[in-house]
Amino acid sequence: MTRSPVWHPFTQHGLGEPVPLIDRAEGAAIYSADGQRWIDAISSWWVVTHGHCHPRIMAAIRAQTEKLDQLIFAGWTHEPAEKLAAALVAMTPAPLSHAFFSDSGSTSVEVALKMALGYWAHIGEPRERILVMEHSYHGDTIGAMSVGARGVFNKPYEPLLFDVGTIPYPAAGREQETLDALEAACREKPAAFIVEPLILGAGGMFFYTPAVLAEMRRICAAHGVLFIADEVMTGWGRTGTRFACDQADIVPDIMCLSKGLTGGAIPLAVTLASEAIFDAHYSTDRARTFYHSSSYTANPIACAAANANLEIWRDEPVLDRVVALGAAQQARLDTLADHPRLRNVRRMGTIAAMDVHVPDGGYLSGLAPRLMAYYREHGVLLRPLGNTIYVMPPYCTDDADLDRIYGAIRGSLDI
Ligand SMILES: *Cc1c(COP(=O)(O)O)cnc(C)c1O
Repeated sequence: MTRSPVWHPFTQHGLGEPVPLIDRAEGAAIYSADGQRWIDAISSWWVVTHGHCHPRIMAAIRAQTEKLDQLIFAGWTHEPAEKLAAALVAMTPAPLSHAFFSDSGSTSVEVALKMALGYWAHIGEPRERILVMEHSYHGDTIGAMSVGARGVFNKPYEPLLFDVGTIPYPAAGREQETLDALEAACREKPAAFIVEPLILGAGGMFFYTPAVLAEMRRICAAHGVLFIADEVMTGWGRTGTRFACDQADIVPDIMCLSKGLTGGAIPLAVTLASEAIFDAHYSTDRARTFYHSSSYTANPIACAAANANLEIWRDEPVLDRVVALGAAQQARLDTLADHPRLRNVRRMGTIAAMDVHVPDGGYLSGLAPRLMAYYREHGVLLRPLGNTIYVMPPYCTDDADLDRIYGAIRGSLDI
């Protein structure tokens, strides 16, 4: 084991598992310095959409580094951010009219929560309760953890997490329970409902239908409860449409985007807000200012990368690739559907998932690290969530690599 001062995320260093050293990446693959190749079958934690080192995004970053590296964004502005905000507002439906930049999915969620609370405070009707969905994940900062599922990941911090109202996950056949619970909770005048549209990602790749999403949005609107769509994972084509909300034909009051915003090349996040939320903060009174900032808010290089991503979406048939990748995965998934060790083999857009049946269950059952090691040895980067194996590859992944990914999954079921 190499001794390194690096403390890795979600890594139990005491287990001494190998940490491969990666030197370069291209398309759907990452490489070590000695040329070993792994297929990045989870898009380096869900961020890489078109593929690693996309030439247009890399060129945009290079060009921006020749002009402007970083700028204070309080009271100053720059062209890459202006262009990006205008394009984001233009590509999302009308009520979303303002773009607030930050630097990670978690901070985009913190910003969303603060905007929601600010809205109610500034219109003179203070509200603070937040509604959430069971099994959700919204990030690892204290506020984002508070609105996410409680469990082994946040046990030591639980005393600091704020109280929320939890709506049950709309499992197939039990959707009405979710809608009834949401309706009842909305009557108590909460500030907002935050939800991952269509797919609860880190919570275990749980899917639900656009019809339920549309109905949840309708209930919130009917009760004047703000609806926050956390599209940090689902955005940028992952679910088969550009945004998951598109499938339900809904517009949230607040929308969080990050991961694929720059095509996965460099950190950036944005929280889009409706005119009403912006207006609640708009005043000659400084006390109504939205007091939030990160040092690197709207970093010009990151904005340039995001602008290149939006140009790729404008100029190239990205959604056709998404649909083709989904179909190509489905063909391989179908061969696994009846596997005796698998349950609930499912797919939405480019995301495929399946649960491995293990009698003793649980995230810490030890299956995931064994599977991960097997995949690592077989040239595939996969990282099961507990007993749930999922595949979320870059959109450039070809048939040969899909065969290797699904071949490795099949092989791993015999270990
Ligand atoms: C990953 C994720 C986040 C957190 O994003 P970070 O950039 O890791 O802080 C928030 N919400 C959802 C739905 C996510 O999948």
